[in-house]
Amino acid sequence: MAQIGTDIEKAKALLESGELVAIPTETVYGLAGNALNPDAVAKIFSVKNRPSFDPLIIHTDSLEKVRKFTLDIPAPLDRLAAHFWPGPLTLLLPKKTIVPDLVTSGLDTVAVRIPQHTLTLRLLEALDFPLAAPSANPFGYISPTTAAHVQDQLGDKIPYILDGGPSQVGLESTIVGLENGEVTVYRLGGLEVAAIETIVGPVKIMAHSSSNPKSPGMLKSHYAPKASFVLGDLKTLVPMYQKSEMPFGILSFSRKFKDMPEQFQKQLSKKGDLAEAAKNLFAHMRALDSVDVSVILAELLPDDGLGKAINDRLKRAAAGED
Ligand code: AMP
Ligand code: MG
Repeated sequence: MAQIGTDIEKAKALLESGELVAIPTETVYGLAGNALNPDAVAKIFSVKNRPSFDPLIIHTDSLEKVRKFTLDIPAPLDRLAAHFWPGPLTLLLPKKTIVPDLVTSGLDTVAVRIPQHTLTLRLLEALDFPLAAPSANPFGYISPTTAAHVQDQLGDKIPYILDGGPSQVGLESTIVGLENGEVTVYRLGGLEVAAIETIVGPVKIMAHSSSNPKSPGMLKSHYAPKASFVLGDLKTLVPMYQKSEMPFGILSFSRKFKDMPEQFQKQLSKKGDLAEAAKNLFAHMRALDSVDVSVILAELLPDDGLGKAINDRLKRAAAGED
């Protein structure tokens, strides 16, 4: 099993020797390795069982360091960085050759982010290389938002998990790049599109196509739990499944079902708050997946702000079905 702790020196020493360490961020926990060391990067792919055509996000702690491995930060993206870093925003920037091709799957842009988490920022400050860090879960499964989630799934494969408490945003970063001069969103995430638009004006959204070659990682089944996942109107679905013999769980926005045992139903936010729902999403999906139900019934949230990013994850979980 991995050791869990808050020892930055230990994490630093492991990373410097080419080992992997799980790190907390405000979005989800990351599986981190030295981004400039191809062997460490290769280890990330093998521990996660992640296909090598799915590029990684590089994490660092200052714009000054970002400039060391990117050729240029186009003006609109620079404005976004100034406003939202540290934060749940990933920028696609032209890479320098110092970034190994394995990190970017051969693309000429690299995905970069400064995360908003005190412990991880202190670690990044102490390192003289950036960290490549995809979510610390086996490829295709639900992203981890606590150290215990990482321990459950990757504990036997890594030496250390830096424990920074539950992730405060709970959804992966919003991925933004520049395409033909247009600011383009490639993945909906923890930073709302409306906030981005207040800084750079209207943006193009390319986040919903699963065949989008720019974001090969956004495969449809990316967030699939083990149980099958059915999205629909819970008021119709629940009575239907109650009549069947099938053990099922319920993932609702705020509604509670009276005649269902507590452990089989989770509310994302009892007060109907989207930020709270985002923070709970992956932990609740996991909890339902671990009580041996064969089906999880879920509903879409209001398709607005963070609700759009949450609905994107719910649809992907449901798409694991077909
Ligand atoms: P994660 O699994 O949260 O680390 O997210 C990594 C995702 O970022 C990948 O699956 C891609 O969708 C996206 N990504 C990373 N690097 C690039 C890049 N250079 N160009 C386009 N998308 C990228
Ligand atoms: Mg992931």
